[in-house]
Amino acid sequence: MNEIVKNYHSVKDDIHSELKQCPGENKSLQLMVVSKFHGIERIRPLLLEGHRIFGESRLDEAREKWIDLAREFTDIKLHYIGTLQSRKIKEIVKIFDVIQSLDKEEAAARIAREMQSQKRKIDCFIQINIGREPQKSGVLPENFECLFYQCINKYNLNVSGIMCIPPAGEDPSTYFMEMKNIKDKYRLAELSIGMSSDYLSAIKHGSTMVRVGAKILGERN
Ligand SMILES: *Cc1c(COP(=O)(O)O)cnc(C)c1O
Repeated sequence: MNEIVKNYHSVKDDIHSELKQCPGENKSLQLMVVSKFHGIERIRPLLLEGHRIFGESRLDEAREKWIDLAREFTDIKLHYIGTLQSRKIKEIVKIFDVIQSLDKEEAAARIAREMQSQKRKIDCFIQINIGREPQKSGVLPENFECLFYQCINKYNLNVSGIMCIPPAGEDPSTYFMEMKNIKDKYRLAELSIGMSSDYLSAIKHGSTMVRVGAKILGERN
């Protein structure tokens, strides 16, 4: 078996055994494979294996890789997880199914406008800068509520979840707990937490979607 396919099944097995130990929560846990920086030849084996949910963080790269693949595999779900630049939102709305990195009102306004003009409806997650790191994207936790209500009331967006990248090199547990509290308080369906290094901890804390890159596709250059 291909190395990548082997990694994929081992991550899925880990997820299943972790899920068995946390009954009640995580009724629908999804695995997103983060394919940024990896070429089609590494992605294709996963598509042939039946995997359909992928995450990309750069528009130009995603466009190049996924336009042809999406013709071949018509039920792919592509999630945008990179920084949202206003001038790219038009194209992002065109090719992605979910935007997980919404963190500003201006971006919300533009997404709403594009959805209307393209007659397209996509889901949004709000990204939260849970570790309050100055260099990181995401709305600060205390500003989440304001942005959330602007998105749903003023721009009529379908905000179905929240996403975060916790600070590197720290135990993510307390950050994951804060995220879970926000998800519960606003009755959101999706909690997008957990990456290669911490997806099992994220599942313990109620993740509904883990985003795994390196552990499946290998290190990025
Ligand atoms: C790159 C990235 C991931 C995947 O990280 P790995 O450590 O490779 O699993 C997950 N989420 C976001 C937002 C990313 O940018």
